[in-house]
Amino acid sequence: MKIGFIGLGNMGAPMAANLAKAGHGVHGFDVAGTKAEGVTSVASAVEAAQGADVVITMLPNGAILREVAAKIIPAMAKGAVLLDCSTVDVDSARAVAVMAEEAGLGALDAPVSGGVGGATNGTLTFMVGGGADAFATAKPLFDIMGQKAVHCGPAGNGQAAKICNNMILGVTMIATCEAFALADKLGLDRQAMFDVVSTSSGYSWSMNAYCPAPGIGPQSPSDNGYRPGFAADLMLKDLRLSQQAAEAADADTPMGQAAMELYRRFVEDEDGKGMDFSAMLPRFEKRGRG
Ligand code: NAD
Repeated sequence: MKIGFIGLGNMGAPMAANLAKAGHGVHGFDVAGTKAEGVTSVASAVEAAQGADVVITMLPNGAILREVAAKIIPAMAKGAVLLDCSTVDVDSARAVAVMAEEAGLGALDAPVSGGVGGATNGTLTFMVGGGADAFATAKPLFDIMGQKAVHCGPAGNGQAAKICNNMILGVTMIATCEAFALADKLGLDRQAMFDVVSTSSGYSWSMNAYCPAPGIGPQSPSDNGYRPGFAADLMLKDLRLSQQAAEAADADTPMGQAAMELYRRFVEDEDGKGMDFSAMLPRFEKRGRG
């Protein structure tokens, strides 16, 4: 396939490189001038989009996605698919899909989980919203860049799935960290805490697969000085998107709201910027109730 790839950042560059490695012709563009292995660099987003069967975007936010989409949609060949893999607000995803469909294009929102490691190793999970035909066109590309692609329904539903998943993740990570900090103060050994909770009803991905306590459970960012991993700033971004969506849909999400506020304080007022999101554990450890 001829692929245009716009946004060659931490995630986009390895994803584009994997498509090129699999034999696809990839034309890439990034405003920062970054490049990806095996990918032909071009001078603009429009140039990357022209003549492509699928145009993939991997951008920081919904405002930038809307801006890029407005430029490239008129340049894309009829019947081509615009595949956005960024994490953006549901409204932007749906607005871009309408724009694309009005221009005779297919459109998919397909945010990912799996982080930079998953992007590099081709083991991402894609949560996909959009039409069945566009999904079928993009499926071979999902198979190269990832290990799983779940079609979640019409436009915007990929983003909806992503922010609901990450709202659960943010809340359970905080709960796991505050429970470890309490266990410490009660004199409970961390290994014993892990052995019990990871096999009892408090278990979760945060505890079992990504344990925030160093030296306990499988290797995780806590064993590496809490270097990300999944950065607290990115968790804050996703929690903000979840609360924006909850507000628009009139959904009551008190735990998501509390998690957003805690990560906001951690990243903006404390020392959480640049740390993994599991560094909530040392944060709680340092604090008392006051
Ligand atoms: P990044 O900041 O490293 O990459 C974004 C890239 O987009 C940058 O290189 C930037 O120069 C480029 N860009 C910005 N405006 C542009 C424009 N107008 N035209 C062309 N390029 C432009 O971010 P990332 O970590 O690669 O994340 C990309 C997306 O994936 C985000 O939406 C993020 O929330 C999501 N995501 C990231 C991770 C992660 O672990 N990094 C995990 C899951 C999802």
